[in-house]
Amino acid sequence: MRPMNAKPIQSTGTKIVATIGPASQSETVISDFIDAGLSVARINFSHGSLQDHAKTVEIVRRVASEKGAAIGILGDLSGPKIRLTDIAAESIHVSPGDYVTLAPDTGESTIDRLRINQPEIIADIKIGDPLLIDDGEISIRATRQTADGLVCKVEIGGTLKSRKGINLPDTDLHIDSITEKDWGDLRWAIEQNLDFIALSFVRKLDEVQRLQTRIREWGGDQPVFAKIETRRAMDHLEEIVRAADGIMVARGDLGVELDVATVPRIQKQLIDLCRIHAKPVITATQMLQSMVDSPTPTRAEVSDVANAICDGTDAVMLSAETATGNYPTRAVAMMHRIARETEAYDQDFQPTRVNKDEPNCTVSSAVARSATQVADEVDAAGLVVMTIAGDLARLVSKFRLDRPVLALTETEQCRRRMALMYGIRPVFVEKKESDLNAYETVERVVLQQTDAKAGDLFVIATSPSVTGTVNTGSITIRRID
Ligand code: PGA
Ligand code: MN
Repeated sequence: MRPMNAKPIQSTGTKIVATIGPASQSETVISDFIDAGLSVARINFSHGSLQDHAKTVEIVRRVASEKGAAIGILGDLSGPKIRLTDIAAESIHVSPGDYVTLAPDTGESTIDRLRINQPEIIADIKIGDPLLIDDGEISIRATRQTADGLVCKVEIGGTLKSRKGINLPDTDLHIDSITEKDWGDLRWAIEQNLDFIALSFVRKLDEVQRLQTRIREWGGDQPVFAKIETRRAMDHLEEIVRAADGIMVARGDLGVELDVATVPRIQKQLIDLCRIHAKPVITATQMLQSMVDSPTPTRAEVSDVANAICDGTDAVMLSAETATGNYPTRAVAMMHRIARETEAYDQDFQPTRVNKDEPNCTVSSAVARSATQVADEVDAAGLVVMTIAGDLARLVSKFRLDRPVLALTETEQCRRRMALMYGIRPVFVEKKESDLNAYETVERVVLQQTDAKAGDLFVIATSPSVTGTVNTGSITIRRID
């Protein structure tokens, strides 16, 4: 029999997300990732084919099931990322003061005519608007419109390469945030029953809502993570956080669209907002960037991961480090070590408990808040959350209880979806066992998954969905016999 609910070797409260790519798309590496502390595998639809991604899904599911590990899969939709088309020559070098022409047609890019994947947006670019290419490595500015296209002056020079991204922080783009490709990828993600969907370049609330509605229409119920990486999203933060099921602080594009110096404070602001609204939040991009080429990270990177944890992030993410880097498993293991050290340190350095008023106080949120208080007051060996869809676990997670929190659920799907919630250890229980009165089951799980021993107290919190009555929840204190 497979080892269901295997106890993680050294589980951390912080969850680790790793992007799967050519450097990691194998059974051996994914197996090593899980042993090193991985919680969620990320598929980036901006790179690779659906065939590649299907292989990733197959490997992750098989290896996770062999290990009895709750590993979620996040499908990250590209959104309207503007890119240079393929460059006919190997590369094109531009120097400050040069002029280049952005041609409003399709085809490869040449030295005379640069082309982009969505030429219709060229009409939205105003004279004076900056175009930041390759994460701002190269910068050009629109200077005049001619019959040939939009002429731009090079301000920061460099080598243009095929398919590099272009950010237009000052341009109001009249394109849909969810492209035809995204809808196709979404349909596939639902068919594959991925666990989370992320949407890039979210600008406003209705984009998140449209995606959520479409997922339901297509028979899925995946949580939607809004990636915050545009200036526009910053104007609608609160409503986006309320509507989305989770948030990603997408520091890569954020640091190009806005002054990079604002990224740390936006990260703190966003994480705070997510904590208040009990929405899981992922901090992403360049966390251990130097490990793409080096077996050890810089001190600044180690501090960055630790500080994101102190800020209160639920998860930390690896991108190039695990997708194309030379030391993918070392990067996952490094994050795990940083999380363990940071979480074990003085309470003052742990994310603060949120005591701000609940935006929408419900029976579940009251149960969550009180159960964590009770667990502290009786010095419980652990808190057990009985949950159907994971909502009570999400609400409990926000209180960052400094004791084991086991979330018992009857579906593998819910178990995987709790893989992004700080401090939650998802546990699968057979339907017949999860009966509210089955204290034996709860006790067995607590003994198996924590250091609790006979005589210790533990607290059980039950959500309205488990009791089957909308306005009923319960908190029980039990002593282990
Ligand atoms: P990306 O998103 O890796 O898909 O660009 C994350 C970011 O921009 O930080
Ligand atoms: Mn991005």
